[in-house]
Amino acid sequence: DAKARGRGCYQLYRKELTEYVHGRLLLDADLRKAIINHEFELHYQPVIDLGTNQVASAEALIRWNHPQRGRVAPDEFIPYAQESALILPIGNWVINEACRQLAQWKAQGFNINMSINISARQFMQLDLVQQFEQTLEKYALRGEQITLEITEQMFLENTEHNLKQICELKNRGIKISLDDFGIGYSSLSYILRFAPQYLKIDRSFVSLIGTGKEHDEMVNAIIGLNKIIPMHIVGEGIEEEHQRYFLYSRGCDFGQGYFFSRPLPATQFLQFLQTRATTESQPS
Ligand code: C2E
Ligand code: MG
Ligand code: MG
Ligand code: MG
Repeated sequence: DAKARGRGCYQLYRKELTEYVHGRLLLDADLRKAIINHEFELHYQPVIDLGTNQVASAEALIRWNHPQRGRVAPDEFIPYAQESALILPIGNWVINEACRQLAQWKAQGFNINMSINISARQFMQLDLVQQFEQTLEKYALRGEQITLEITEQMFLENTEHNLKQICELKNRGIKISLDDFGIGYSSLSYILRFAPQYLKIDRSFVSLIGTGKEHDEMVNAIIGLNKIIPMHIVGEGIEEEHQRYFLYSRGCDFGQGYFFSRPLPATQFLQFLQTRATTESQPS
């Protein structure tokens, strides 16, 4: 009886494992094709200066237009790409495309910066710094116009190597932003050593604003980190006015979220910039 059940479980396990492996092989093959067939696209979400209400920068967020499955969200393929090293060619494409787009918006008269999400694995590339140098030169951009969004994952493995890369990128003016802060493994000593210029409060904390004194105090405490380490605080996932107001009044410098705008295709992002520029210049 127990033996039969055991075997049943084993068979079930075999079946799931086979499906799992098969699924990953499909994903792997499809991702390789996606690069060749230009199935990736970047959407851009505005980052708003909460003090002036102006668009400070755009965060580039990858989208995959799969020929059969339609739009695939990054959470469905970026983790796999990170494990399989496919993140390297995908990440290189993102860096080039985001810089190309930024140069175009600059040429159209919009003085904004670009934030690019970078995986820990990309920092293992020995020529990452060189790649940025070449791309900046190709599009006549300055390092100061680029911010790299990293996660706490960067602290855990190859810490010394990552620190060295970050130091070299900073020497070229490129800024560092610590993404999804509060849900990972940060310790203040790591933040001190990496010294990011921006810290993004994870949206799970922003969504808790106004739901309890302890939640509000927690967000307050995160913002207060800028008194210990000089950095700008960015609130992620702002969906409601009261969240924006809370963050702004507690000293959070920048905000991002559906309250301002969802991530937009490049043409719609340009319209967003144009509309805001017009509104801003009219007397109120
Ligand atoms: P992230 O960098 O933390 O990006 C923020 C995510 O929150 C985005 O999801 C964005 O669409 C979503 N978001 C923004 N505002 C709101 C809001 O008000 N409410 C809600 N519910 N969500 C909001 P997305 O685009 O699906 O990206 C998910 C994650 O995938 C990103 O998190 C980032 O870690 C990763 N990712 C995206 N593009 C790239 C890329 O080019 N390279 C790498 N390495 N990772 C990327
Ligand atoms: Mg990000
Ligand atoms: Mg984030
Ligand atoms: Mg995230």
